[in-house]
Amino acid sequence: AKSAGRNTVRFYDPSMQAALDRRSTLENELRHAIRRGQFVLHYQPQFDNTRRIIGAEALLRWQHPKHGLIAPGDFIPLSEQSDIILPIGRWVLETACAQLNAWSCDERTRELRLGVNISARQFRQPGFIDQVCNVLEANNANPQRLTLELTESMVLDNVADTIQKIEMIKRLGVHFSLDDFGTGFSSFSCLTRLSLDQLKIDKSFVLNLPEQGTDAVIVTAIITMARSLGLNIIAEGVETEAQRAFLDSHGCHAYQGHLFSRPLPVEAFDAFVSGIYA
Ligand code: C2E
Ligand code: CA
Ligand code: CA
Ligand code: CA
Repeated sequence: AKSAGRNTVRFYDPSMQAALDRRSTLENELRHAIRRGQFVLHYQPQFDNTRRIIGAEALLRWQHPKHGLIAPGDFIPLSEQSDIILPIGRWVLETACAQLNAWSCDERTRELRLGVNISARQFRQPGFIDQVCNVLEANNANPQRLTLELTESMVLDNVADTIQKIEMIKRLGVHFSLDDFGTGFSSFSCLTRLSLDQLKIDKSFVLNLPEQGTDAVIVTAIITMARSLGLNIIAEGVETEAQRAFLDSHGCHAYQGHLFSRPLPVEAFDAFVSGIYA
């Protein structure tokens, strides 16, 4: 038992014990969730500045028998603390690649790109490059349509390894997006060393546009910098026409957010795309 200060022995705190129990139940359930078929991907459409659909981001949900649909924020951070994230990350990549293959059969969806979130532990695991290669091949998915989203903070953690991995995987034709951009502290020079294709402006900066002066300045600077590096820029969390118009007038290339659509189950996503072309 750990002593957490005078007269406090945390181990015997019943509420602490309850929290630990809940956590280990969750961990245990997570270990079985893939086999039990409880994970599902939702797809949030992405648009260019002519409002044409250009792709989607795959977002994981856990269909829990007791608790219903659980958002990734409630189980991904826990999964990332152990190797549980590895089979989950693999399942996401496999399911996304199978979806790309399914979309390739329809002219309305065959040009769509699909963004997949990659967690730090998954990216750093030995054999990640082979995993991407094998999963693409096994699912007969076009690598050109796959975009891997890495977060700014994980990229900075080991820049040399990141540069090397990105370069190897890009040889397959896969694209890379830097997620949550603006929340970390990557320098201009660091960015130039990574062979990225896209920067994704974090929704926390989009939220208060265009009123909030500081965020407007930050977003304008990010777009200017990204454009000067020849990167494609996408903004996430776009909820209002005013936000879209501000971003558009400053040279943003693409948008994702509730203004256009929430993340959708695949049937609803396909119906959404059919509706556009109807
Ligand atoms: P993220 O990669 O930054 O994804 C964007 C989040 O913003 C998603 O939350 C999305 O539903 C939400 N969002 C989209 N449009 C709007 C909007 O207009 N307004 C607001 N307020 N929010 C919007 P979600 O699906 O809950 O995912 C949360 C985070 O969980 C993701 O953040 C990502 O970091 C992580 N995640 C999701 N799926 C996966 C996955 O398959 N693997 C890994 N490693 N992480 C994942
Ligand atoms: Ca993302
Ligand atoms: Ca984000
Ligand atoms: Ca994120």
